[in-house]
Amino acid sequence: MRGTGTVHALTLMIDFPDTPGEGSARQRFEEFFPQTSRWFARGSYGRLGYRPATPIRHWLRMPRSFAAYGIDRGSPYEPGYQRLLKDIVAAADERVDFGRYDLVNVLVTPNAGPPAAHTVLSVTFADNDRAPRADGVRLSNVSFVYSRQDDGTGSLRETGYRVLPHENNHSFGLPDLYTASGAGRAGHWDLMSEDWGANNDILGWHKWKLGWLGARQVVYATESPDATARAGTSRHTLTPLARPGGTKVVFLPVSRRGGYAMEARTPGGNDAAVCRPGVLVYWVDVHKDSGQGPVTVMDSTRGTDPRHPHRPHGAAPAPNGPTAGAQGCTRLPNVHAGLSDATFTPGQTFTDNRHGVRVSITVTDRTRGGDYAIRITRRGATS
Ligand SMILES: [Zn+2]
Repeated sequence: MRGTGTVHALTLMIDFPDTPGEGSARQRFEEFFPQTSRWFARGSYGRLGYRPATPIRHWLRMPRSFAAYGIDRGSPYEPGYQRLLKDIVAAADERVDFGRYDLVNVLVTPNAGPPAAHTVLSVTFADNDRAPRADGVRLSNVSFVYSRQDDGTGSLRETGYRVLPHENNHSFGLPDLYTASGAGRAGHWDLMSEDWGANNDILGWHKWKLGWLGARQVVYATESPDATARAGTSRHTLTPLARPGGTKVVFLPVSRRGGYAMEARTPGGNDAAVCRPGVLVYWVDVHKDSGQGPVTVMDSTRGTDPRHPHRPHGAAPAPNGPTAGAQGCTRLPNVHAGLSDATFTPGQTFTDNRHGVRVSITVTDRTRGGDYAIRITRRGATS
């Protein structure tokens, strides 16, 4: 579904006979709002107006125990979620006109299921053509949020909501950027990579996919999108994602598999965790799906080979001491440390000699207004 305009999000708080609601349904709602609406307003530069609606303000009691639905991490839609959603419709239908909403949020009482620190159950079924119908519409975009993303650091009130915009972004078409080995490919540079910890934005590439950038805010570094064999130099000015306006993304097509995207990241807006302002360079593999690592951030303080991704979060350091830059610049919990200082700063150059072309991206200046000037050079086949 589209990620622009006004989005009406039916938000229901549910509990079960074996796990009655913990606290009030209103409190559960307030764990996510108004922060989620604000996140979308800022991130989209006002292009997405998110309107949560709570036509039922108390816990909506399900007819079966939580255990009866057999919900686990990675549970498929059938049969547990199919049954749960049918029960939600039956319980709510008298007071809810499902036809008035674009998507559904189901905020489950936090005491149902394991703590999120142990197992994250939250999930979205997007464009689901097997979902039940209600009031003439199919409930094809539904996000279920469980438990609390509480790591015990005291940041829950500030950051616990972030799982919801992550889940809703799946309905708007975004993939997960983390892989089976963690957030080592995109770090904290995108909410679809890490949704625990301090606030973060999404990549400009994702903003472009969602329609949050104007046509002139994303530019190709070449005259033609199919210019992979052509040589040349181009210069661009990037305005940080944290501010509206200006060029947000420069894309350099490199091969049939993908290319490099560049954007400026600074603290501000949805980007609270940025500790090294600069230009982020990342490889976008257009053939990789959600969870397969479609985006790999190039680390200015470490290796730059997209085929050798960075050490996964939580893995043991090398026996001879940590690799340079592995600690990053962040002191915030739940921020992938190794990639927190990945940005390129004025004077630094990223180079790539693979893919049959020689690519170099240099950050030449930071303007008084806070924009970044970059120079991109591409030479033809290096035989
Ligand atoms: Zn996800």
